[in-house]
Amino acid sequence: MTQRPYRLIASCALFLTTSISFAGSCDLVINSDDKMIFDKSELKIASSCKEVKLTLNHTGTLPVAAMGHNWVLSETSKVRSIANAGMNAGPDNAYIKPDDERVIAHTKLIGGGETTTITFKTDKLTAGADYSFFCSFPGHSGVMKGKFLFS
Ligand code: ZN
Repeated sequence: MTQRPYRLIASCALFLTTSISFAGSCDLVINSDDKMIFDKSELKIASSCKEVKLTLNHTGTLPVAAMGHNWVLSETSKVRSIANAGMNAGPDNAYIKPDDERVIAHTKLIGGGETTTITFKTDKLTAGADYSFFCSFPGHSGVMKGKFLFS
């Protein structure tokens, strides 16, 4: 007898979550895991968005030191140099060179089971320009990357 009301609540919660994600077109959610994968290879934002809210989830269980992930946004041509500078900056700087001007936005580095959300303004972005997102943890940017479309 207790199952039925529970199921009703669960489906209401699901409906609510779906509605919210459709309503906020300036909101992005991306998931990462222990397999070193982002669940999206492309993120799209309308240039009418003045601000973007991005949430990064790490659905794995490995600690940040072994399988840390972040989300870094830059021009596509600068991904490699930012990742290299991040590697040199080391774990104390969460693999991002402090005040790296090439970085447009980035989250903190998180481990399994963690979530982080950032909000950034789009005034530095040019509609139609070539942007990419990636994870700057050493060795991850080769596979953990995707296109960021702002148009
Ligand atoms: Zn990573």
